[in-house]
Amino acid sequence: MNWLDIDNIHVWHPYNALPSKTKILPVKKTNNTTIFLETGVELIDGMSSWWSAIHGYNHPKLNEAIKKQVDIMPHIMFGGLAHEQASILCEKLVKLTGLNSVFLCDSGSVSVEVSLKTAILYQKAKGLNKYKFLALEHSYHGDTLGAMSVCDPLNSMHSIYGSYLSKNIFTTAPALGFDSDCSKEIKDLENILEKHHQEIAGFILEPIVQGAGGMRIYNPSYLEKARELCDKYNILLIFDEIATGFGHTGRMFAFEWTNIKPDIITVGKGLTGGYMTMAAMITSKEISDTISDSEIGVLMHGPTFMANPLACSVANASIDLLLSSSWQKKVNKIEEIFKKELETIKGLDLVKDVRNIGAIGIIELKEDCFAQEIQDYCVKNGVWIRPFGTLVYSIVAYTIEEKNLIKIIRTMCDAIKSIKKK
Ligand SMILES: *Cc1c(COP(=O)(O)O)cnc(C)c1O
Repeated sequence: MNWLDIDNIHVWHPYNALPSKTKILPVKKTNNTTIFLETGVELIDGMSSWWSAIHGYNHPKLNEAIKKQVDIMPHIMFGGLAHEQASILCEKLVKLTGLNSVFLCDSGSVSVEVSLKTAILYQKAKGLNKYKFLALEHSYHGDTLGAMSVCDPLNSMHSIYGSYLSKNIFTTAPALGFDSDCSKEIKDLENILEKHHQEIAGFILEPIVQGAGGMRIYNPSYLEKARELCDKYNILLIFDEIATGFGHTGRMFAFEWTNIKPDIITVGKGLTGGYMTMAAMITSKEISDTISDSEIGVLMHGPTFMANPLACSVANASIDLLLSSSWQKKVNKIEEIFKKELETIKGLDLVKDVRNIGAIGIIELKEDCFAQEIQDYCVKNGVWIRPFGTLVYSIVAYTIEEKNLIKIIRTMCDAIKSIKKK
């Protein structure tokens, strides 16, 4: 049997039925920002594999790191054992975030789970029984059950899981726009916290850009106010930087657009340059000290593949590569091109809004039934994107050539124009 036939009969794809309800394309190989299909077709990658391949695919430095590590030690359990690549990585994460204590885990969703568990433990260690979380509408924090319970209730279809899903508290997401006034949403936040603070262990949010829950960019001042209120009510401030981290918004971490720091950060996606599945939770020293010195005493979590050496070594190489490159200049240039090119379709009938920041460009449509049609058009014209709902967007590797970026954006725009013509 042809392997694509096997895929069609036996293999689940994300957010899909079996067999798949949408066209699945067979990939043969990748290089930098090109995806080579089995059919001989080449696509420019406008997704960077869900925000992860920040240096493009098959970067020589990253390939070298992982090849070298595989001969030394492909994996070793982390219970009771330590290894050099993990220590080097945790030191880097500590330096980059200004926090102290790192828990390495195997995917973004798991790092969110661990951060929720950590927040509850911390509160308990302080003698407080706080078992709920506050999250924003339009949020996305992952697909495992705990992470899902802090995702936007509508987007993530909470109702399907009924009473199995933990009930959390949601507040209005800050208004769209980096410079927009969000005093109304701050007022909502104040009211909710005043009413519910005694049960809330932590406030989890994606700083500056809400990703998969709506591709929304908002004002950093909201985060500063959130910091103030969390301090007032003994609530931990958790920033999920899984999507925004490692330069996507034009700063190494999105919280660097503010003058505050969260208590907990989760990172993933770009952490290994898109090579291996790995994520991390990083907390303040106060949090790890409080838990460790308490009666509870330990953080009860430990994935089998925690701190996998291959993942650590490629993450180290990816961070080194980022820091030694002029990544910020590149991201700023990408931002400039997105801004200029997206401007051209602003007035279109079907277009509700265009927005961009860093390596992220977004077109929001007024209607949500064109995602497949737009994707098909783009693929036919040599571009890989994956629109969802009303959102047609691209997040690119920082290594992308200018002409390829322009082609991605123009093809997305042409795809939308082609719909209008009907
Ligand atoms: C992708 C994502 C996650 C989940 O990460 P996985 O590695 O897919 O489990 C969590 N939070 C945010 C903000 C994300 O973008």
